[in-house]
Amino acid sequence: MNLEEIVRATYEEVKNTDDKGRLASYIPELVNVDSESFGVFISTIDHTNFGIGNFNEKFSIQSIAKVLSLSLAYSILGEKIWTRLGVEPSGTAFNSLVQLEADKGIPRNPFINAGAIVISDILLSNLKNPKEEFLSFIRSISNNSELNYSRKIAASEKSVGFRNVALCNFIKSFGNIENEPSDVLDFYFDLCSLEMNCKELSELFLFLANNGCNIFANNSILTKSQCKRINALMQTCGFYDESGEFAFKVGLPGKSGVGGGIVAIHPNHYAIAVWSPKLNEKGNSYKGMKFLEEFTTKSQLSIF
Ligand code: GLN
Repeated sequence: MNLEEIVRATYEEVKNTDDKGRLASYIPELVNVDSESFGVFISTIDHTNFGIGNFNEKFSIQSIAKVLSLSLAYSILGEKIWTRLGVEPSGTAFNSLVQLEADKGIPRNPFINAGAIVISDILLSNLKNPKEEFLSFIRSISNNSELNYSRKIAASEKSVGFRNVALCNFIKSFGNIENEPSDVLDFYFDLCSLEMNCKELSELFLFLANNGCNIFANNSILTKSQCKRINALMQTCGFYDESGEFAFKVGLPGKSGVGGGIVAIHPNHYAIAVWSPKLNEKGNSYKGMKFLEEFTTKSQLSIF
């Protein structure tokens, strides 16, 4: 079977499995989606592109955006960035506060909320117009001017984001936030509100399968080493306290979001995006995980 046939067969199989997931409801606006939506898009380095199901429908990418903000901050600061946060899996939920006290305000990694809030602070300190410049960064990587924040989703999260407010203030009390917490959070909520469809998401992430090089313009976004390290972080921390499970079952670096999206990378080969909004108890897409597990099993295309 070729790649397209494998994607199609896996999609049909997983589509009909009993979805035990539930929509994320702690951000009110995220409930306004068709819970049965299910889409997949794969983009390869050698330009084989294929989508199935609701791959053309935009959804809230939420924490998947943390990989993009890290990429921009890492490209600006280089290795200095690791004085502000760690590279260890946390083994805790995405929004957990518990380790920060013992760790003196240094988040374990950039993909838990605490880490992504520190990355937001770094971008605020280093960019003149952070929101605009971040948007230009992702638009230029994928040559797609359609990418945008969702005002509705950002406002919805802002109205209930008390835990993130607590995280940001707590980290600031240790001196690891330079800007006003309200400004940092304003950027963070916009970041998480980015909307994309599976096609846009897989095209945007293809640079991480291509040694940090933009496939469309062939310019370098990250060095080879930085790209390797971001993939390593996705492999070890991309699914919070389910990262081990994802590595075990899927065997690819990846990142999830509570909007039900997952993007996974096969270095030097492809980027694949899956969207199904119902989540398992760890906050990762139930069908998305299942699809990728079956896909890498059938295709034997994992990194292991
Ligand atoms: N914006 C969400 C939050 O901060 C992102 C969480 C996620 O996608 N895991 O809670």
